[in-house]
Amino acid sequence: MNMMMKTRSCFSVNRCQIPQAFITATGFTSHSRRSSTSLSRSGTTLRASTAEEYDYDIFTIGAGSGGVRGSRFAASYGAKVAVCELPFDFISSETKGGVGGTCVLRGCVPKKLMVYASEYADSFRDSVGFGWEQRDLPPHTWSRFMDGKRKELMRLNGAYKNTLANAKVELLEGRGSVVGPHEVDVDGKRYRAKNILIAVGGRPTKLNIPGEEFCITSDEALELPAAPKKVTVIGGGYIAVEFSGIFSRFGCEVHTVYRQPLPLRGFDQECRKFLAEQYTQTGLNLHSECSPTEVKKQSDGRYTVVIKDASGAMKELTDNDAVMMATGRAPNVKGLGLEEAGVKLGNSGEVLVDEYSRTNVPSIWAIGDVTNRIQLTPVALMEGMAVAKTIVLNEPTKPDYWAVASAVFSHPELATVGLSEEQAMKDYKNVDVYTTSFRPMRNTISGSPLRSFMKLVVDADTDKVIGVHMIGDHAAEIMQGFAVCVKAGVTKSQMDSSVGIHPSAAEEFVTMRTATRKIRNGVPA
Ligand code: NDP
Repeated sequence: MNMMMKTRSCFSVNRCQIPQAFITATGFTSHSRRSSTSLSRSGTTLRASTAEEYDYDIFTIGAGSGGVRGSRFAASYGAKVAVCELPFDFISSETKGGVGGTCVLRGCVPKKLMVYASEYADSFRDSVGFGWEQRDLPPHTWSRFMDGKRKELMRLNGAYKNTLANAKVELLEGRGSVVGPHEVDVDGKRYRAKNILIAVGGRPTKLNIPGEEFCITSDEALELPAAPKKVTVIGGGYIAVEFSGIFSRFGCEVHTVYRQPLPLRGFDQECRKFLAEQYTQTGLNLHSECSPTEVKKQSDGRYTVVIKDASGAMKELTDNDAVMMATGRAPNVKGLGLEEAGVKLGNSGEVLVDEYSRTNVPSIWAIGDVTNRIQLTPVALMEGMAVAKTIVLNEPTKPDYWAVASAVFSHPELATVGLSEEQAMKDYKNVDVYTTSFRPMRNTISGSPLRSFMKLVVDADTDKVIGVHMIGDHAAEIMQGFAVCVKAGVTKSQMDSSVGIHPSAAEEFVTMRTATRKIRNGVPA
């Protein structure tokens, strides 16, 4: 999980420790880079700067967030770059993908649009307490929303293609695979590259249970022809929690089935508990410590999910219009030729890389979800930029995973940066924890039962804030600012000396004066 990782950048050290072997393997000596840049400036193609045996300095497979960013930056540093990607479709398959990748076409962007669409239901409901005569929810035309969503995704797909063209990155449409340390095949045509960058991302996985073929994944959930009236979501991670909230706000009866006592394993325990309480308040049906054993198609076309709880008792969740599996994503390495090329893969099929995103084959690199480090778009962007610097500029650059903020677009939102209380207790001797929970001002009149929660985790020995967590409206927007603070090493005293913005929820972060808990030598004091 992202918050657990606590590596610190050694940028200055890296710069002065460039091994000769490294320079030879990437093929970019400082001399070759200079010549490539000057050739580029004089208008000669970069082909001339590349050793003649190669078509490209870098060939990227996959034009998602990481691949596009890495390719674009590498080209801006003077490298000759090509990227290949499958033809566009809203749902991914062996033959379909699209420039923009998971985040833009089948993840963050369409999901957030669905969150926005579903939020209006709350706004209509909440407005009544503020005097608006909107007692019944107005009808929602699903097809109009879907049309708008699709248009926006196609616009973004075009924008990403333009970005590549403007950066002088050659885009090849087709299925790429590695056929050797310096060779890529795209639908039967071979290209030679000094470096190959694997940025193919991941794909949703399904549990291997009877009836799995009746289940949808996040791909299809973003493309449903109509809002389901009843849905069962299997899984308790980011995607399950987000889609449960979305469907529920659309007025759907939602059952969320997960095998842990609480959803969102890896997040701060108190936050997990608080969020589960909020979900229950909004009418969601949470089935904790349960696993699905079978999905059956009913004679009326709907679905029954059979689940088993911790005691072994079986229960049936009937009459589902859709059953969604959100049980993780797997690296998209099938048919990529990596193992044949000698690239080592991990147990989940992830491409194993070193701190510079380099595989065991020196000319092959990998970034983003396919490496299964932190599956977040901004992390893939960071890795893409780092690898471009490493390969092209001869500046071996490690991505810095400390204080990577993230948000779950649940209902209400959960956002976090740094360490959970549990992680802090493992890594630090003395920890102070500050918490607050309150009913947001808006909900006093709207009648919504939802509450907000905030938490600061502080290293008591240095006063440094090492974890910030929030559940509540706009948590993601608020957390980005605190992510900068945590990364910069803000102390609790500095937060205390900041003046709040009133009235806001965020001001609570600078007014938590008394520790809720003090942990000394791993034990509550
Ligand atoms: P997660 O890894 O977050 O969650 C997977 C869920 O499936 C967990 O609850 C897991 O349970 C459960 N699961 C896995 N295997 C089984 C099994 N055999 N039986 C029962 N349950 C099982 O994956 P997601 O698919 O939700 O998301 C994938 C990635 O996408 C995330 O890691 C995240 O980084 C990224 N993402 C980020 C978002 C954001 O930033 N807002 C939004 C959506 C996705 P258990 O915990 O017990 O293993």
